[in-house]
Amino acid sequence: MATHHGRIEAVIFDLDDTLTDWGGQSITWEQFFGPRTNTIHRFLSESNHQLPPVDEFYTIIDQATRSIWEEAKKTWIIPSIGDMMLQVFIDLGLDVERIDIDEILVIYDWGPLPGVVPYADTIPVLEELRDRGYKIGLLTNSFLPMWMRDIELEVYDLLQYFDARVTAADVGYLKPHPFIYQRTLELLETTPEKAVFVGDRPKNDIAGANDSGLISVLMDPPHLNRDLDGVVPDFTISSLTELLPILDGLDAQI
Ligand SMILES: [Mg+2]
Repeated sequence: MATHHGRIEAVIFDLDDTLTDWGGQSITWEQFFGPRTNTIHRFLSESNHQLPPVDEFYTIIDQATRSIWEEAKKTWIIPSIGDMMLQVFIDLGLDVERIDIDEILVIYDWGPLPGVVPYADTIPVLEELRDRGYKIGLLTNSFLPMWMRDIELEVYDLLQYFDARVTAADVGYLKPHPFIYQRTLELLETTPEKAVFVGDRPKNDIAGANDSGLISVLMDPPHLNRDLDGVVPDFTISSLTELLPILDGLDAQI
């Protein structure tokens, strides 16, 4: 494998709206999650657990999801979807000794949302970075474990490009908390000043990268209209291809 010789060793990407384009999302969250929640409801009912009616079950899970995210925005600490489900089941009085949460998550059948696809230049840019010898990381603020998000990466043919993949669920912290950046840098065996972070959310991706000493690149494609809210990225791009000359420029600064 090529090793990149220059100031920058690693390029770390956010996933949603950075490598994949959510602008074409063609169904609502309820349409996506509803059938999946129904499947879990059916599975648990068939295993002789006493559950509320399916609509109520959906509402309980939906509210639990909203409430953990609301809490997480105060502390940047996030439980995983599995921990959340387990707590919901405990609160419903289910015999959780008889429930295998990993099995529940497999039954949940996570996958790409209809209409969400990589940008046209996502794969060409990742190919180019790999050819240039950069280490490539992925760091997503997801409460799903990485193996679930990997299902999407595999469908999009992106999985092969990453030397390290980190989801907030597996680490317990969300961007902008420094811990999750440190963890990703450790996995890539690099240091903040040798790493570029590319993400679309100023308050999470960019503020966190800045605080942790990485070079920050705001991905600002036309379908997003993010409020910077005082956060200052080192660079701003509207397509991933624009990242390549930025990396050239950083290497030339030695
Ligand atoms: Mg994003």
